[in-house]
Amino acid sequence: MEDNEVEKLACSHCSGRIKEDDDFCPDCGTLFNDEVKCSEHISTEAEGVCVICCEPFCSECGIYVNEIFLCNEHSEYEIYEGMARVYGSSDSTQIEYAKSCLEQNNLHPFIYSRKRTTLHLGGTDYSLFRASGEFDGHLINEIKLMTPFQEVIRAEEILDELNILEE
Ligand SMILES: [Zn+2]
Ligand SMILES: [Zn+2]
Ligand SMILES: [Zn+2]
Repeated sequence: MEDNEVEKLACSHCSGRIKEDDDFCPDCGTLFNDEVKCSEHISTEAEGVCVICCEPFCSECGIYVNEIFLCNEHSEYEIYEGMARVYGSSDSTQIEYAKSCLEQNNLHPFIYSRKRTTLHLGGTDYSLFRASGEFDGHLINEIKLMTPFQEVIRAEEILDELNILEE
C-alpha cells in the first residue's frame, strides 16, 4: 500500500504532495518509513514526524491533532492550513512590520485576522486550532502572523532578534 502511494507522490494521509525519497509528509507529519525510531526513545518506533521541527517521535512524545502530527514541545502552536502562528498582536502596524522583516529573510508569512471572517464572529473558528487545548479569550481579537510549518523555527529566530515578541 505504501509503495503504491509513493508512486502517486501523494501523502496517503492528507493527499499532500510528497517527493519520491521523502520519509515523511511535510504537510501532516505522516511517516512512510517503518524503521524510524522516536528521537527521545531510541528503541520505540516513531509514530510521526513533527511538522514544526521535523523530528520523529513516538505516540508518547507527539500527537496527531486535526490530522497533523506535532511533538509535545510544539503542540502549543495555533495551526491554520499548513501554517503555524509565530506572532500575534492587536496592533496591525506591529504585525505588518514583523511580516516585512520575515519577507526580507525570504520567508512566506501570512496574516490571519478574524476581521476577515465576520461570519464566524462570536463562534469558534474550527479551521484554526491549537493542539494542546482550548481557545482563550485573547485569541479572538488577535491578529496573527503565520508562516508555513517549515519556516516557523527560522521565523521565531528572526522575530527574537527584533525584540518584538511579548513576554
Ligand atoms: Zn500528509
Ligand atoms: Zn516539534
Ligand atoms: Zn518517544
